[in-house]
Amino acid sequence: MFDIVIIGGGAAGLGVAQAIYKRQKGLKIAIVEPAAQHFYQPAWTLVGAGAFDIKQSVKPMVKVMPRFVKWIQSAAAIFHPDQNSITLENKDILQYRTLIVCPGLCLNWSAIEGLEETLGKNGVTSNYRSDLSPYTWQLVQQLKSGVALFTQSAMPIKCAGAPQKAVYLSCSHWEKQHTLSNIKVQFHNAGATLFGVAYFIPILKQYMDRYQVNLNFSSNLIKVDGAKKLATFANTHADGSITSTESAFDMLHIVPPQCAHPFIANSPLANAAGWVDVDPHSLQHIRYANVFSLGDAASSPNAKTAAAIRKQAPVVAINIISYLSGLTSKAIYNGYGGCPLTVENGKIVLAEFAYNGELDPTFKFLAPHIPRRFNWFIKRHLLAIVYWHGLLRGREWLVKTKVE
Ligand SMILES: Cc1cc2nc3c(=O)[nH]c(=O)nc-3n(C[C@H](O)[C@H](O)[C@H](O)COP(=O)(O)OP(=O)(O)OC[C@H]3O[C@@H](n4cnc5c(N)ncnc54)[C@H](O)[C@@H]3O)c2cc1C
Repeated sequence: MFDIVIIGGGAAGLGVAQAIYKRQKGLKIAIVEPAAQHFYQPAWTLVGAGAFDIKQSVKPMVKVMPRFVKWIQSAAAIFHPDQNSITLENKDILQYRTLIVCPGLCLNWSAIEGLEETLGKNGVTSNYRSDLSPYTWQLVQQLKSGVALFTQSAMPIKCAGAPQKAVYLSCSHWEKQHTLSNIKVQFHNAGATLFGVAYFIPILKQYMDRYQVNLNFSSNLIKVDGAKKLATFANTHADGSITSTESAFDMLHIVPPQCAHPFIANSPLANAAGWVDVDPHSLQHIRYANVFSLGDAASSPNAKTAAAIRKQAPVVAINIISYLSGLTSKAIYNGYGGCPLTVENGKIVLAEFAYNGELDPTFKFLAPHIPRRFNWFIKRHLLAIVYWHGLLRGREWLVKTKVE
């Protein structure tokens, strides 16, 4: 019997464990995490642009797993929230007083016909896999002329800005190499807008125009023929009709469809879309009061980012301790998420916003829509430190949590 069982030792699982320990020592906490390595995923966009060393985006799990938790190296398989227990893949059953569900989300590569056979070769890549982001950079450097396609799958996806970050950084390199005019760049977005927060769209559109990117909305990648270097898109039109188009490519950067893990979607914890069904402000489960969720697995409609987790972790920590102590005080999450939009190599538009697209900048004296070298410095040099030595060590730099 554990006081707290945490499912997933990613950014959310390790961050929330530290946030709890910071506030209350002595609780019996287990983290269920099958993986032997922990990844700092926000670096992969920079790796794909030759601006970050892939080796610095990964650490052995044992090095980041807190000493005060019991690490159970298996995968969670079946939830029994009415019995306060969970069955693991190794068939063990864990009993808990409270549960935090944060195993991230599923990248659904197989939803695109022909993709798995060709991913990592034939010019087909994705910054959404650590082993492939160096291949992105290799392709960007090699391409001197031809067609470069970039895709974005339907929302929700983690780091909704990452698909277009790959576009800007690749174009920025080709611009510097004076090859951009020989490369036809297309961005195919399954969604209908360039970015979810309208305030940032004009500046992003300016960069798309500067790089002469051909923008295609409601255009969803459905098939890849790697050998023939052909991509097929389903295009949804205003009248609801769908047609398909084919495009030849020399380089194809893919952001795969993303969904909730089936072991969550098929459990009593899920909402209709498969995510852990939590109150968006308290991050407490709607039906099971001793269950909480944060990070990419949660149903809260924030941007699925590590930036969001920095603000969510203290909220869940306060609320779970409050629950275990029989108190009613509640910490409130405002939906904060952050997306450093790397519009060119060396400059970033730092998009930070809360629920309903409300702007929520950390540095209130700086206009958020301006691309800045200062923001690049933060992303390139400081945010990895904030991740490894802040979030994963229980240091809540620049995080203020509202408690009611
Ligand atoms: C290319 C890219 C760029 C990004 N850029 C940014 C950015 O600039 N800024 C930003 O803030 N965020 C960014 N993100 C998003 C950010 O990395 C994620 O939102 C964050 O890592 C989510 O944390 P998480 O703990 O919810 O999930 P993860 O970090 O994915 O961790 C989930 C953990 O759960 C484990 N797990 C899976 N299944 C089970 C199971 N059955 N049982 C137990 N454990 C399980 C996994 O092994 C993993 O360790 C980016 C992501 C990508 C891919």
